[in-house]
Amino acid sequence: MAEKKGKKLLYTRAEMFELNKKILLKRGVSIEAIAEISYKQQSKYSDDVSRELCIESVEKILSLRDVFHHVQLACEIDRLAEEGKFEGPIQAIIYEDLGLFGIDETMGLDVSGLYGTIGQTNFGDIDVNKHGIVKRLNDAGKEEGICHTFLDDIVGAIAAAASTRVAQVLNEEIAHEDSGVKRFSIFDI
Ligand code: MG
Repeated sequence: MAEKKGKKLLYTRAEMFELNKKILLKRGVSIEAIAEISYKQQSKYSDDVSRELCIESVEKILSLRDVFHHVQLACEIDRLAEEGKFEGPIQAIIYEDLGLFGIDETMGLDVSGLYGTIGQTNFGDIDVNKHGIVKRLNDAGKEEGICHTFLDDIVGAIAAAASTRVAQVLNEEIAHEDSGVKRFSIFDI
């Protein structure tokens, strides 16, 4: 049955954050698990990386409208595929996670570049080497009745973007130390 028009379309950043957190948890993904990938990725380059900064970065990213749309759509596509709700060839292609199907990666690339092109390199690393929660999602997705085709990429992309934000924040701090200028909130990353 078709949905009635006129439903709520716009959500505040706080609402989008809560809705994203909720749907990710429903799909077995916590903010801490995403932040852990960013921490592992970024702590290779700097001793100043803290888990708090990684969690803050993931939380901030989860409150952005573009990311909200990506996360909500990705989780729903996987759920619908699990329930066999798509018609035609795309049902099996998504459900079986066909290797040559790349729309999940396209969505991931889009989100991972939020804080700079380097995010897409970070995403490539996570996609190929499957760190932490991304590996767990990937493995679980092979089981009967579970589809993580879009979820593993969106989660990897958020981790990659958070990783990039961490690098941006740390570099900004170094630049501020050098300039001696107090940080302006308008330029907060
Ligand atoms: Mg995938």
